[in-house]
Amino acid sequence: MSKTKGYAALTAKAPLAPYSFERREPRDHDVAIDIKFCGICHSDIHQARNEWGEVPGHEIAGVVTAVGGKVTRYKVGDKVGVGCFVDSCRTCAECKNGLEQYCSVHTAWTYNGREIDETPTYGGYSEKIVVDENYVLRIPENLPLDKAAPLLCAGITLYSPLKHWNAGPGKKVAIIGLGGLGHMGVKLAHALGAEVTVLSHSLKKKDDGKRLGADRFYATSDPETFTQLAGYFDLIINTVSAEIDWNQYFALLKLDSAMVLVGVPEKKIPVGAMPLVARRRSLAGSSIGGIKETQEMLDFCGKHGITSDIEVIPIQKVNEAYERVQKSDVRYRFVIDMASLKAQS
Ligand code: NAP
Ligand code: ZN
Ligand code: ZN
Repeated sequence: MSKTKGYAALTAKAPLAPYSFERREPRDHDVAIDIKFCGICHSDIHQARNEWGEVPGHEIAGVVTAVGGKVTRYKVGDKVGVGCFVDSCRTCAECKNGLEQYCSVHTAWTYNGREIDETPTYGGYSEKIVVDENYVLRIPENLPLDKAAPLLCAGITLYSPLKHWNAGPGKKVAIIGLGGLGHMGVKLAHALGAEVTVLSHSLKKKDDGKRLGADRFYATSDPETFTQLAGYFDLIINTVSAEIDWNQYFALLKLDSAMVLVGVPEKKIPVGAMPLVARRRSLAGSSIGGIKETQEMLDFCGKHGITSDIEVIPIQKVNEAYERVQKSDVRYRFVIDMASLKAQS
C-alpha cells in the first residue's frame, strides 16, 4: 500500500480538508498515475458529502509513473486521464458494447464508490491514483494537461449525446446553460459542424459564447426568446441542474427532435404530454460516455485543438472555488494544480 495525500470532507457538509489514505500497489494490469491536475465538476459539489473521508474528483489528468507486469497500453511518462469510473463488470451487454457507464452489474465510480473487490474508491483531489489500464485514457500530446482535465467529464458528457443524436452539418443544436458542461458543448457541437445556439439565463456571457463557437446567443429570462425560436431546434441539451420549465423548451423543438438532460435537478419536474406527442419530440437523458467513446472524444479534441477554458487554483482554495461554482461565478471550469498539494506538509 502507498500512503497518499488528498482533500476530503471529514464530516457531512464540512469544507474539504487535508486527508491521507492508502492506494494499492499496481497489480499486473494497473497503471500508477502522478496526478498533475483535476477539474472541479458541479457533481463533486452535489454529492451528499456525508461519507467520512470522501475524496472527490473525476476529471483527472497526469503522467504514468509505473505499470504492472502485464500492461500493454501505457508506459512510464505517458500523458493520461481518468474520468468518472475506474472499472465495471466487463461481462454485461452494456460493458461488452463499450457502454461501461451504464453497466447493469457494477460500475466502480472513481470516488465515493467501490472497486469490483468492494474496496472504497478515492478520487482525483489527490496526488496519485492506481487504475486498471483498460479504464485509463490517453491524452493527445498537443493538449496541455490542465486544460485537458475537464474533457474527462464535462467533455465526454456533451460529446456522447451530440454524437448519439447526430449533431453535425445542417443540424440546429441548442445548449442550455453556459457552465463547465455547456461551454464544452458549444465547442464540440461547433467542431462537429452543427449550428450552435446558447440559451443562457442572461446575456452576460454573450461575447464568451460567440468566442467559444456559438452562432446565436439568447437570454432565457426574456420571454421573446421563446417566441422567436419556436419550432427551431433539432436537438437541445440541458446542462442546468436548477429547476426550469422544460415544457417551455419543448416548444422550441421541431418535428422528430429531442431534448436531452445531462444536468440533474433534485426535484421532479412535471412534463406535459401534448408538446411531446404533437411533434413526435423525445425527452431523453444521457450519462457521461464509455471508455471507447471517451478516447474518441479526446482524439477528436486533439485533432481540433479543443480544450476547456479554465481557472487554475491551488488545492488550498478548493472550498472558495466550490462557493463560486454554486454562484455561477466560473469561466468555465476550475482546475486544481496538484503541485500545491504535493508542496503542502
Ligand atoms: P456549472 O459549471 O455550475 O454550470 C451550470 C450552468 O447552469 C451555469 O453556468 C448557468 O449557466 C446555469 N445555471 C445555474 N444556475 C441557474 C439557475 N438558477 N437557473 C438557470 N440556469 C442556471 O455546472 P456543470 O459542472 O456544467 O454541471 C451541470 C450539471 O450537470 C450538474 O447538475 C452536474 O451534476 C451535471 N452533470 C451531469 C453529468 C452526466 O453525465 N449527465 C456529468 C457531469 C455533470 P448560464 O449562466 O448560462 O445560465
Ligand atoms: Zn463530472
Ligand atoms: Zn457491466
